[in-house]
Amino acid sequence: MRTHKIAAIPADGIGPEVIAAGLQALEALQQRSGDFSLSVQEFDWGSDYYKKHGRMMPEDGIQQLKPFDAIFFGAVGAPDVPDHITLWGLRLPICQGFDQYANVRPTRILPGIASPLAGVGPGDLDWVIVRENSEGEYSGHGGRAHRGLPEEVGTEVAIFTRVGVTRIMRYAFRLAQSRPRKLLTVVTKSNAQRHGMVMWDEIAAEVAAEFPDVTWDKMLVDAMTVRMTLKPQSLDTIVATNLHADILSDLAGALAGSLGVAPTANIDPERRYPSMFEPIHGSAFDITGKGIANPVATFWTAAQMLDHLGEASAATRLMRAVEAVTADGVLTPDVGGRATTEEVTRAVCEAIRGSNI
Ligand code: ATP
Repeated sequence: MRTHKIAAIPADGIGPEVIAAGLQALEALQQRSGDFSLSVQEFDWGSDYYKKHGRMMPEDGIQQLKPFDAIFFGAVGAPDVPDHITLWGLRLPICQGFDQYANVRPTRILPGIASPLAGVGPGDLDWVIVRENSEGEYSGHGGRAHRGLPEEVGTEVAIFTRVGVTRIMRYAFRLAQSRPRKLLTVVTKSNAQRHGMVMWDEIAAEVAAEFPDVTWDKMLVDAMTVRMTLKPQSLDTIVATNLHADILSDLAGALAGSLGVAPTANIDPERRYPSMFEPIHGSAFDITGKGIANPVATFWTAAQMLDHLGEASAATRLMRAVEAVTADGVLTPDVGGRATTEEVTRAVCEAIRGSNI
């Protein structure tokens, strides 16, 4: 029996509701498969922990997480704790501390869920966005001077390194190569940004030579929004900088129907450290405790986690179960249904146990 050690950090808002749902589905998968088990340890870190201890996680939090095979993360953010504390106190130290430089965001229109794009249904939109997750525009470099004076200045410096760009390009080309269409779009803004983005383009061309079977093209980020909206079928795997992919993946989530179905994985491709799997959405305080949070994004990221752990057939079974349930119209209100989190979760667990999945 293969055993994988999972650290679950449900954290804030609807995080605990969707992580509980995800753990139920993972339990059903273990029972159904019988050849792997997950040893899950829960951590009570997050905004409530901050209110008691003055920190989002203990000082040695990263050390505590190191022995795990993967981290299953809910959401951070609380109305009464500033965003920079919740974000920089828990999620970002994990991403950065474990050098999870590839942020992988699959988007697909699930059966039974309507896209806001007219005439676009399941099969027309099947993308994976790879976001550079360690440098670029979010490197934290810059500063402020002459505060409050008319000559005040603020700089926000984007950092692109050859090592950073090469490794994310290789990851994206390899991922594109593993998908049936072997198609990669490299997003850039090298017409206006003449330094880092031109280097990004050059490195893309260099890495492309290592993958002769992958068809690739380049798009300026502004034109990319138009292509995503008008020709979604023409795209498959997409690689973009930290900022560009951040924006494009929100658009992708909206085009697929709801933030409540969008998953993400923060991957250390070299597997030196645990990778982290989470729904894209935040803590959604407006619906916290109402029992209507959509658990689909969390199921999907659980499938990404299983894939990463080498449990590909369990990952496929989980996604088939989710698609069977959405196709049946068992949907939470954010995607036009009336089901609760618990009803969707129960239906997915039943589908996992069912003989036809
Ligand atoms: P944060 O500041 O933590 O990112 P937020 O409320 O600004 O939180 P999200 O939590 O990402 O942003 O959610 C935006 C809106 O989308 C929420 O108000 C919520 O109604 C809806 N939403 C997000 N996730 C879900 C979900 N899983 N199920 C249903 N609705 C959701």
